Amino acid sequence: MRDELFAAVRRAGVIGAGGAGFPTHVKLGLPAKTVVVNGAECEPLLRVDQQLMELYAERLVAGLSAAVSATGAEEGIIALKGKYAKAIATLRAAINSPVLRLHVMDDFYPAGDEHVTVNEATGRLVPQGGIPVSVQCVVSNVETLLNVADALDGKPVTHTWLTITGDVPNPITIRLPIGMSVAAAVALAGRTDLTGVHVIDGGPMMGRVVDDVNRPVTKTTKGLIVLPDSHPLMQRRRLPLGKIIRQAQTACMQCRFCTDLCPRYLLGHRIEPHRIMRSVRHMDMSSDVLKMAFACSECGACEYACIMGLSPRRVNGMLKQELARAGAKPHPAPENQFRHQFQSERRIPVKRLIARLGLSAYDRKAPLVNDIVMPDRVRIPLKQHVGAPCTPTVAPGQYVRVGDEIGAVPDNALGAAVHASMNGTVAAVADGYVEIGAAEGR
Ligand code: SF4
Ligand code: SF4
Repeated sequence: MRDELFAAVRRAGVIGAGGAGFPTHVKLGLPAKTVVVNGAECEPLLRVDQQLMELYAERLVAGLSAAVSATGAEEGIIALKGKYAKAIATLRAAINSPVLRLHVMDDFYPAGDEHVTVNEATGRLVPQGGIPVSVQCVVSNVETLLNVADALDGKPVTHTWLTITGDVPNPITIRLPIGMSVAAAVALAGRTDLTGVHVIDGGPMMGRVVDDVNRPVTKTTKGLIVLPDSHPLMQRRRLPLGKIIRQAQTACMQCRFCTDLCPRYLLGHRIEPHRIMRSVRHMDMSSDVLKMAFACSECGACEYACIMGLSPRRVNGMLKQELARAGAKPHPAPENQFRHQFQSERRIPVKRLIARLGLSAYDRKAPLVNDIVMPDRVRIPLKQHVGAPCTPTVAPGQYVRVGDEIGAVPDNALGAAVHASMNGTVAAVADGYVEIGAAEGR
């Protein structure tokens, strides 16, 4: 039975629907005591998981039950925020087993950081540099487990749910074919002219600015946020790294607010961004202080905390690369890792974060619509996951239907299969993509 489940999830190409995209069949093979569904959705403006949990509560419970039995876990916990009242009600009605329960959290950032979610839901502390399975937890997000439930019904991952919001006339949450372009997706929210704006793939805190709006949405796309070029968030994102470093070297007043609010510091990790900011002027890659940067999750809470407008997050991002280049190794996890006594008080309320980011005008509903979207063309990347790229299994001119496998995992490699997201003819197989266009006369 377990083998059939792994095979079905592998065949369906399920990966973590968000984040790096770790193949789910591998994750479900890890032994765990607890499976945690990360339903916090703490990035401002995104509205996917909260609506999916409400609408597809029974499917989520089915996916979670499958994950609990696959991992041999003793319990399954859906961790979500108290403000998702409707989702809480439908999930409570759907839960059909004494080993499944909800864990209700406050509305703070970063409630969805895996280390924070695991600690909230189970009380366990993931060690610095470790992953949840180090404390016998497997963490999956909401859509991943819905995809697991679909995989058990023989349905592969062909679409992704995402919120399209920001400077658009009609924010929406919608299910789109994988491979559709970012520009075409944003047009569905009523914004066709992208002159003078940028699109963030993901949330405003940890998402990445899209460099080419013809790029496709993938299995891990959870949000597209449109912001004017002049928005302070965009201006800050565009500050050159050299300037960020110079600011760190000259303007940091060592108030340590960044450290006091750092979620990883508060969970007992060896990271103190204010000390990194003090030491960065020397750029000595053998410095024990600079090596603390390896423990940074790049959540950006320190940017929120800094009254001087500095970015320890970007400094740490740069340091991680430089340290790795210099062959430096991260600090081992502290032998006695303790949660800070004020950890539960030092949380960033999401409403205040939205105001600080200058996003209050965009803090709008993004209602879930069940429209079927049929683009003329999709460009499906053969690598949307952690691991090896898929090997294409189709050739130009071939007719494919939604759900047909178009890329397979190479033998003995880590990866996830990819499937056609529309009916049509394969137009090209090149540069790591399979392109499918509408077939005339079909
Ligand atoms: S980005 Fe800042 S707050 Fe977040 S883990 Fe890194 S140093 Fe800490
Ligand atoms: S909050 Fe800003 S000014 Fe204060 S120590 Fe951190 S980086 Fe320096």
